[in-house]
Amino acid sequence: MFPGEWATAARPARLPDIRPGVLVMRILVVEDEPDLLSVLAKALREEAYAVDTAEDGEDGLYKAETWEYDAVVLDIMLPKLDGWELLQKLRKTKKTPVLMLTARDAVRDRIRGLDIGADDYLTKPFDLHELLARLRALIRRCAGQPLPQIQIGDLTIDTAARIVRRGEETVALTAREYSLLEMLVLRRGQLVTRTMLYEHLFDEDDNSLSNLLDVHVSNIRKKLGQQLIVTRRGHGYTIE
Ligand code: CA
Repeated sequence: MFPGEWATAARPARLPDIRPGVLVMRILVVEDEPDLLSVLAKALREEAYAVDTAEDGEDGLYKAETWEYDAVVLDIMLPKLDGWELLQKLRKTKKTPVLMLTARDAVRDRIRGLDIGADDYLTKPFDLHELLARLRALIRRCAGQPLPQIQIGDLTIDTAARIVRRGEETVALTAREYSLLEMLVLRRGQLVTRTMLYEHLFDEDDNSLSNLLDVHVSNIRKKLGQQLIVTRRGHGYTIE
């Protein structure tokens, strides 16, 4: 799959704000209440996440099964297919981290959600900062890296603060550079394909250029050294 295939809509290219040291990961938000959906999408994009949205359970399931998301924010009461059904169907094929949005005080809902494979939940109404913190923790945990700080040689990747340090010095990376590096670091020793990188780093509204990835990798190498990221020609990249 190539980015052009899913960036089909003739919408203007929209890149998240590029700020030094800010994470870009790809999140799906499934929520039928238009105001809440737009607030969530806006807040996540301001944090430089790539965000896809779905307003009903069927569309949400289709997207969650089709793309590799770093996390899904899932409402329970949804048209066409509710959050329970969506999660049960999704868990047959995918382990994508899911944070469920439950009604206030619905203890039974939370237990049911956790029983059928939700990774975390948040009770409505919730604080946006708590949602963002839980998403960061979820992404780290599901990548098998419970500690926010990851050490590679003299590099420290702080996934909570979303900064990279060499020794004591902070290295200025763009949002895309940071996110690309973080994906490789969280999957250290494994091959990360170009397709995986495209699916995580760019959302459905982006009109991505296929050579951007190479540009980002090249820039990271200039900042952090040529040896860190190894190219597997024709396949992707890895950090060993
Ligand atoms: Ca709802």
